[in-house]
Amino acid sequence: MGKLKFIEDDIKNLKEQGLFVHIRTIESPQGAWIQVDGRKVLNMCSNNYLGFANHPKLKERAKEYIEKWGVGPAAVRTIAGTCSYHLELEKKLAEFKETESAVTFQSGFCANLATIPALVGRGDVIYSDELNHASIIDGCRLSRAEIVRYKHCDVEDLEKKILETKDKFNKKLIVTDGVFSMDGDIAPLDKIYEIAEKYECITMVDDAHGEGVLGKGGRGIVHHFGLTGKFDIEVGTLSKAFGVVGGYVAGKKIITDYLRQRGRPFLFSSAVTPPDVAACIAAVDTLLESDELVKKLWENTEYFKKRMKEIGFDIGKSVTPITPVMLYDEKLTQEFSKKIYEEGIFATAIVYPTVPKGQARIRLMISASHKKEDLDFALGKFEKIGKELKVI
Ligand SMILES: *Cc1c(COP(=O)(O)O)cnc(C)c1O
Repeated sequence: MGKLKFIEDDIKNLKEQGLFVHIRTIESPQGAWIQVDGRKVLNMCSNNYLGFANHPKLKERAKEYIEKWGVGPAAVRTIAGTCSYHLELEKKLAEFKETESAVTFQSGFCANLATIPALVGRGDVIYSDELNHASIIDGCRLSRAEIVRYKHCDVEDLEKKILETKDKFNKKLIVTDGVFSMDGDIAPLDKIYEIAEKYECITMVDDAHGEGVLGKGGRGIVHHFGLTGKFDIEVGTLSKAFGVVGGYVAGKKIITDYLRQRGRPFLFSSAVTPPDVAACIAAVDTLLESDELVKKLWENTEYFKKRMKEIGFDIGKSVTPITPVMLYDEKLTQEFSKKIYEEGIFATAIVYPTVPKGQARIRLMISASHKKEDLDFALGKFEKIGKELKVI
C-alpha cells in the first residue's frame, strides 16, 4: 500500500474517534416514511421541508421537459450557448425572491464558490460568522481575501472587528448563513445591514435553510426582515425546500450579470439538466401559486416543538423547523439515536466535530409531508426513549 497507507491510517483514526460516517441506503422515494436497509422508518432528518422531492407536479414537469429538451445541457453555458429553460428558471426565481435578477449554478455549494472569489480577492477583507457553512468557508479561502471571523450572530463583535481592520483593506464583504443548520437560529440581518451601510460593506447571506421556510410564502430570510432589494446577494439552494438540485444567486442585476462573467463554476462546469430545471420551475410555480405547504410546515413545526417541550425535552434555541434535541453528552446521544432508530425513527445524531464538544444533539427536521399522526408517533417514541435513558 506504501504511498496510500495514510488513507488506511486516517480511516482507522476516524473509526477510533467514533467519527467514521456510516452512510445508510434509502430504498424508496423521499417522503415522511422511507425504506432504509429493508425497513420502513419515519424520516426526521431530510431537508425536504415542503415534500417537493417526490411531488407529482414536479415529476410531471420533469417528464415534459425531458420530452421537449432531452436530458443534458451538453456544454458549459458560456461556451455553447445557454438554454432557454435555464433562463426561464432564473426569471422565475427572481420573480419569487422579488429581486432584480437571478443566476443559477450546479449547487448551493457551487454558488458560494462562484460568488465570493468573484467579488473579493487579495487586498480585500471578508467578515464571516464563525459558524458559517463549509461552502462559505471554502469560497472565502479560494478568494485569497483576508478572512476575519466574528462571533456567532454577534453584531457588536462584527462592528469591533470592522473598526479594527477596515483601513487596511480595499473592498469589504460581510457574509453569513441565514438560518444556521445545526441550531436553527437565524442571523440578525437587520442589524448586519445597518452596520454594512455604515461601513460600506457588500452584504451576502446564504439562505439555504430559509427559503421555502421563512418570509411571506417562503421567500426567505431577507423577505422575513423586510430587506428585499437592500441586501446585495442572496445565495440559495434548489436542493432543500425546493426538493431538487442546483443553486442560485438572487440580487441586483449588476451582480448576477457579473457572476456570468466571473463565477468560475458558471464558466467552467456544465449546468444542471432539463429535468432538474423543470422540477425547480414547478416548485417555484407551486410556491408562487399558494403558501399552503409553507403554512403546513409551520403548523407541524409549532405543534411538534410545543409537545416536545411539554414532554420535557430541551430543544435549544431554534426559531425554525430545525429541531435540535439537546442531549449534550456524546455517548448518550449516540445511544439515543440508536434506540430511536430501532423504534422506527430515522434521525441523525450530531456530535463533535460538527458541533462543539459537549453540545451533542439529535437533530430533527420537520416537513410539510409529515402528518399529525406521524408527529404523534415520533413524540411517543421520544418520550419512551427519553424516559428509558433518564433524559426527561
Ligand atoms: C446545504 C447548504 C449548502 C449546500 O447546498 P447544496 O445545494 O446542497 O450544494 C450551502 N449553504 C448552506 C448554508 C447549506 O445549508
